[in-house]
Amino acid sequence: MTTVAAYAAPAAKAPLERTTIERRAVREHDVLIDIKFAGICHSDIHQVREGWGEAIFPMVPGHEIAGVVSEVGPGVTRFKVGDRVGVGCMVDSCRECENCLAGKEQYCLQGQTPTYNGIGRDGEPTYGGYSEKVVVDENFVVRIPDGLALDVAAPLLCAGITLYSPLKRFGAGPGRKVAVLGMGGLGHMGVKIAHAMGAEVTVLSQSLRKKDDGLRLGADHYHATGDPKTFEELRGSFDLIVSTVSAPLDFGAYLSLLKTEGTLANVGAPEEPVSLNLFSLIGGGRSLAGSMIGGIAETQEMLDFCAEHGIGAEIELIAASEINEAYERVENSDVRYRFVIDTATI
Ligand SMILES: [Zn+2]
Ligand SMILES: [Zn+2]
Repeated sequence: MTTVAAYAAPAAKAPLERTTIERRAVREHDVLIDIKFAGICHSDIHQVREGWGEAIFPMVPGHEIAGVVSEVGPGVTRFKVGDRVGVGCMVDSCRECENCLAGKEQYCLQGQTPTYNGIGRDGEPTYGGYSEKVVVDENFVVRIPDGLALDVAAPLLCAGITLYSPLKRFGAGPGRKVAVLGMGGLGHMGVKIAHAMGAEVTVLSQSLRKKDDGLRLGADHYHATGDPKTFEELRGSFDLIVSTVSAPLDFGAYLSLLKTEGTLANVGAPEEPVSLNLFSLIGGGRSLAGSMIGGIAETQEMLDFCAEHGIGAEIELIAASEINEAYERVENSDVRYRFVIDTATI
C-alpha cells in the first residue's frame, strides 16, 4: 500500500479538503500512474452532493485523469514506465458478459466499477483523480497520444468520450446537420468533435453569450433557446441533436427541431424524471436515445481521433485549493469550459 495525498469530501455536501488515502500495491496486471491533471466534471458535484442517490464517503472525486506510468505489474503488456496515459469513468467491469465482450464495458450487465464512489471487485472503495497517484488494471487504462498535451487531454476521458460515442453512433459526418444542446464542458467538446467529423454543427444555448466561442470552436450556426423564434425557425432542421443539459428540459420542443426519423440523443443526467408527450416522437418517426460515456477501445479511438484533429478541451487550470470555488462556478455555468486541477498542487 502507498499513502498518497488527495482532496476528499468527508461527508455528503461537505467542502472538499486535503487528506491522505491508501492506494493498493501494484498487482500482476496493474499500472501505477502519477496523476498530472484531473478534470472537474459536473457529475463530481452531483455525487458529492448525493444528487444521484446515496454515495460513499469520504469521496475523492475525479474521473478525467491524465498522467504518466511510474510502475507496472509483472503481467502488464500494454504499458511501460514513462507512458502517457489516461483513466476515465470506470476502472473495472466483469469482463465476461455480452456487453463487456462487445467492448461496451460501460454497460456491463453486472455493473462496471466506477473510478470513484464505487466498490471495487476486491471489496475496497474506489477513489478518483483528485489525488497524486492511482493504481488501475491495465485493461482500463488508455494511451494519450504524444500530440495531445496532458492538461487538455484530461477532460476528454469523460466529456470527450461522452460526446464522441453518440456522435459516431448516430452518424455525425459530412452532409449531416447536428445540433449540440448546451455550450458547457460537454457541449464544447461536442462542437469540436462533430465539426471534425465533418458535420454541419449548430449550437443551441440559452443565450448568445458564448456565441463567439462556439463559432471559434467549429460551430457553423449558433441560436439562443431563450428566444421562442428559434423553435419556429429551426423546426424540422436536424438529423441529430445531442443534449448535454442536466437541468429539466422540454424534450417535446427539442424533438420538433428534428427532421423526420431524426434522433435526439441525451447524455445529460437530470436529477428528476422528465415528462414527454409521445406524439412528438410518433409524428416524425423520431427517436429519443441515451448514451453513457463509451467503452475502453472506443475511448482509445476517441483519443486518437482528437490527437489527429488537434482537439483538446478548453480549460481553466486551477490549484487543488480552488476546488470548492470551482464547484460553485460550475454550478453557475461560469467556466470556459472545463476546470482542470494541477495535481502537483495537492
Ligand atoms: Zn464525468
Ligand atoms: Zn460485464
